[in-house]
Amino acid sequence: MKTNVGHEEKEVFAAYIASHGLKRSEQRDVILDAFLRSERHLSVDDLLALVQKKRPDIGRTTVYRTLKLLREAGLASELALQGQTRFEHDYNRAHHDHFICNSCGEIFEFANPEIERIQDEIAAGIGFVIAGHRHQIYGLCRRCASKPTRPER
Ligand SMILES: [Zn+2]
Ligand SMILES: [Zn+2]
Repeated sequence: MKTNVGHEEKEVFAAYIASHGLKRSEQRDVILDAFLRSERHLSVDDLLALVQKKRPDIGRTTVYRTLKLLREAGLASELALQGQTRFEHDYNRAHHDHFICNSCGEIFEFANPEIERIQDEIAAGIGFVIAGHRHQIYGLCRRCASKPTRPER
């Protein structure tokens, strides 16, 4: 197992904590480490489960609050997916968008310069100043699409 995961991110977080007059907390460090070790799009409960494998004493509220801090510090970004919020790494990450499987919940990332360019052109055409965007494309992944159909829930 890698021991020095996200060294830079940890420094960024420590600086954020210090500059906001917060105290360093050992529980937050454990949560940050678990977050950085995962490459998935994690819900609060996903991250809670990872954290509690090592530290069952850490509760959901602490995980939730820490994720908010990570977002404010620019280390995590939030995705609102059909009523559920998920978090992914944001530090030094290039922009990307997501395909989401409605059946199994699998998330696939994609980035396409052509799509980005066309959006910019359309925006320029109407004088719209883009601050950011999120494409969330819903459907079925290859595996789920090839399963026999079941009645809709
Ligand atoms: Zn699927
Ligand atoms: Zn992503």
